[in-house]
Amino acid sequence: MRAPKFWALALGLSLGISPGQAQTPPAIRVECPQPALSRLRRHPVKKGQTLVSIAAQYQLVPESVVNFNPQLKTQAPRPGQILLIPPFNGQRATVPPGGTWQDLAQQYGIRADLLFEINGCQRQPKEVFIPGIAGLTKPPKAANYTGLTQFPLEAAPQLLLDYGWQKDAAGQAFFHSGLDLAAPLGTPVLASADGVVILVSQEGPYGYLVVIDHGNGWQTRYAHLGRFGVPVDQPVRAGTVIGYVGQTGRPDMTPPHLHFEVRSQSPAGWMAQDPKLHLPR
Ligand SMILES: [Zn+2]
Repeated sequence: MRAPKFWALALGLSLGISPGQAQTPPAIRVECPQPALSRLRRHPVKKGQTLVSIAAQYQLVPESVVNFNPQLKTQAPRPGQILLIPPFNGQRATVPPGGTWQDLAQQYGIRADLLFEINGCQRQPKEVFIPGIAGLTKPPKAANYTGLTQFPLEAAPQLLLDYGWQKDAAGQAFFHSGLDLAAPLGTPVLASADGVVILVSQEGPYGYLVVIDHGNGWQTRYAHLGRFGVPVDQPVRAGTVIGYVGQTGRPDMTPPHLHFEVRSQSPAGWMAQDPKLHLPR
């Protein structure tokens, strides 16, 4: 998908890494989730329990439990036996030397950024959790969602850094979870759709951050603000001034800009989406 033509792409300007930006916080937590493989639980099998009843207890399908306890392929669970229980439906996979998130994404048909986030935003893991079981993965909720109605800045800005996989100065791939839109310090930042302000806070790499919930599993985030324009819990309309461009946190680019994100709710948390696909043209 091409960016609207008024955005001049600043090519070759891939600068600092901001690990905090590629994350999927559940609810409004904004640091990276713990890698799914570090969140396996141990289940001691009790008398009378079956594979199906154990899986149901953790809202999993039996196949996911078998994936983490291969002995169950040939043997029913025995009382006293300890089973490993994954946090979501899925499986474990070994990453071949030199393998990338993009390779895994292609191999398993899952978005690379989702894999990256569910595995704790690790750079080069040897073993990863692959979420989903064939036939069970649902697309993100789209019901009643009509897209964003308002650009987050009044004037058409220059796009400094696009959404998606970018290379840092050392040539390492990193995931940029939003758009960096150039704007002078102090420029008003506008709510991009009706909603409710659910976070007004200083959040690590994001700096001064405002998060707006638009309902139906969609939210927008406005980062590196210099000043806030709204209190938390405030209902806003598209176009409401929610803050002002600043340089707080750890911006990905040096020139002053708004870091703007669109996220949708998924079983793995709030997943970053390409804002260009949601903004009005
Ligand atoms: Zn950014």
